[in-house]
Amino acid sequence: MSHPQTSHAAHDPYEILFQPVPIGPVVAPNRFYQVPHCNGMGHRLPASLAAMRGMKAEGGWGVVCTEEVEIHHSTDLYPYAEGRLWDDRDIPPLRLMVEAVHHHGSLAGIELTHSGHHAPNLYAKVPPLSLRSMGTAHYMPVQTRRMDKSDIRALRRWHRDAALRAKEAGFDIIYCYAAHDLPLAMHFMLKRYNDRTDEYGGTLENRIRLFRELIEETKDAVGDSCAVAVRLAVDELMGEDGLTHQGEGHDIVAMLAELPDLWDVNISGWSNDSATSRFDKEGYQESYISFVKSLTSKPVVGVGRYTSPDSMVSAIRRGVMDLVGAARPSIADPFLPNKVKEGRLEDIRECIGCNICVSGDILASPIRCTQNPAMGEEWRRSWHSEYIAVKKSDAEIMVVGAGPAGMECARALGQRGYSVVLVEEKSELGGRVARESLLPGLSEWRRVIDWRQGQLAKLKNVSVYPGSPMDSDAILESGVKNIIVATGAHYRRDGVGRSRHHSLPGHELAHVFTPDDLMAGRLPTGSVLIFDDDHYYIGGVMAELLVDHGCQVTLATPAPLVSQWATATLEQERIQRKLMGKGVALIMQQELASIEVGYATLAHAVSGEQTRRTFDAVLLITDRLPNDALYQMLRPAVEQQLLASLRVIGDAEAPGIIAQAVFSGHLAAREMDEPIVAGTPFRMEYVEI
Ligand code: ADP
Ligand code: SF4
Repeated sequence: MSHPQTSHAAHDPYEILFQPVPIGPVVAPNRFYQVPHCNGMGHRLPASLAAMRGMKAEGGWGVVCTEEVEIHHSTDLYPYAEGRLWDDRDIPPLRLMVEAVHHHGSLAGIELTHSGHHAPNLYAKVPPLSLRSMGTAHYMPVQTRRMDKSDIRALRRWHRDAALRAKEAGFDIIYCYAAHDLPLAMHFMLKRYNDRTDEYGGTLENRIRLFRELIEETKDAVGDSCAVAVRLAVDELMGEDGLTHQGEGHDIVAMLAELPDLWDVNISGWSNDSATSRFDKEGYQESYISFVKSLTSKPVVGVGRYTSPDSMVSAIRRGVMDLVGAARPSIADPFLPNKVKEGRLEDIRECIGCNICVSGDILASPIRCTQNPAMGEEWRRSWHSEYIAVKKSDAEIMVVGAGPAGMECARALGQRGYSVVLVEEKSELGGRVARESLLPGLSEWRRVIDWRQGQLAKLKNVSVYPGSPMDSDAILESGVKNIIVATGAHYRRDGVGRSRHHSLPGHELAHVFTPDDLMAGRLPTGSVLIFDDDHYYIGGVMAELLVDHGCQVTLATPAPLVSQWATATLEQERIQRKLMGKGVALIMQQELASIEVGYATLAHAVSGEQTRRTFDAVLLITDRLPNDALYQMLRPAVEQQLLASLRVIGDAEAPGIIAQAVFSGHLAAREMDEPIVAGTPFRMEYVEI
């Protein structure tokens, strides 16, 4: 195995990050704390999950936690894949994770939860429970059963039993969870839900009674050897209707201050806690959580997408937190702590804050990460996030195109020790990321380029040639026999996309644009119709760009929601709010029927009813077409044995998200000189029948 160059001695300015921190009866070996985070694997893929968590412990995270773990079958979150501790049979899969974490000397934490009206119980088929009869989340046409006193007693028993099972599985830190507006214990706290007139409703003291009981009973059950942590949302960013850090969020911490062994505090809901870089920058939670340390002597964990060790040290020194919590920075770089320890700051693969990782949970599919293509592949493909198999031949390889796919491919091939030439027609590397990171709110996405450029510069066996457009003759004349084509994609101009399969009448008119035009600096003026048949971020950022340019913007989409797919990255509402705030007119469920000079005709996606509107220009955001002409030109050369190997990757193979391009480049590098396996190219977790 080859690995990146290490290492210096411990770096003084960061020494504080490596101090042990006692948490109740256990001691965290350092201040790097992977807070609970979902991953789309959960109880369904326990071996994958254990290897993923183990990777973080290996990389130096002193505490590594689970995702939310269901304590009972009446909190069945199906189809989401969360952790499960319904009964004793769920202990062995979780023990796998504990062992993987302990193996590297880190502490393992578990977040126990009952999700009340957030658990529709689709698999368990028992009525969901809540503090009152109410509709379940996600517009599910199911209501909960109001819990009576015996239900509350049962819930407390389930939580205690789950804590005992967690202890048996070997966990060191056991959470009582009240954040993200997800757990029942939090629902009881909230005035907007709690209308009870018994001792669990009314005053704040009554509303936190259940949570207090859960903490006390967890301590009683396992507190001799396990730390009992609390995860609390101290502010929900909804004013007096919810918890606020000056109001009840503050008061709850004051009332329970010394009860838990650790306070893990954040803001709610999940879209606020896991805000993307498009909307919030590193450390964005500090102003809400910084009061907590003044009310308790117990260690405090906070999050805020910290990727810079300087910001981490600063947050500790300023008394904001004792342990630096992270979900996404630990996903993008499981080895972040070790890199700080070894003084290899430039090697940190910084999270770009895109929330593609979150989409795994939302879409009930295993986690992936834009920056870290090994995320989720630790077990099934045996991929390590830092090390990679050394080269198997002396093959020289040319990678054509330095977008995210080409850069990652050249970097990983170089790390394997191959002699690599990376050629790029533009004077600057980065492809679509270089262009898109200049769009409103997306500047942090440049980290995809910056990290790879830094790593490439260290690899003496990789030569990078910007400003080098290649055609098939030039490639064949170069004498390099292994070619990887990563030439990207471009937006279609003919209107063909998800909602239209034939070219759009009027698409050839001069006032019709694509995102490529705008990113090349050719912007329309006046009133502009954006037709967004892409449904992710690009429609929204194009709208912002045009508003900032002085245009009057209307955004039409065939979907029921603006930027519909951004629900998976928790951004949809924020995007819509931002566009509304900027005066963008939004029209949903509209397809584009035709364009004429000065007009566009829209058709309702369901009824087909047409409306004709005046516009000075139209921006078509539809399908993209792979730039695969070069690949097609080179294919005969393989048959003629002029080339030894040829592969197309990234958007040139199939246009997709940046994460997919990075993964595709990484996969091609891993598979160089490897035999093509018949059948599924990764291990699968089968249940024995
Ligand atoms: P991906 O997302 O798959 O990496 P991008 O579109 O981001 O795709 O990047 C493709 C890169 O390939 C762009 O930077 C583009 O300039 C470059 N490119 C395209 N065709 C050629 C070519 N014939 N020779 C060299 N570079 C090319
Ligand atoms: Fe960060 Fe994006 Fe990776 Fe998530 S997917 S860890 S937000 S880079």
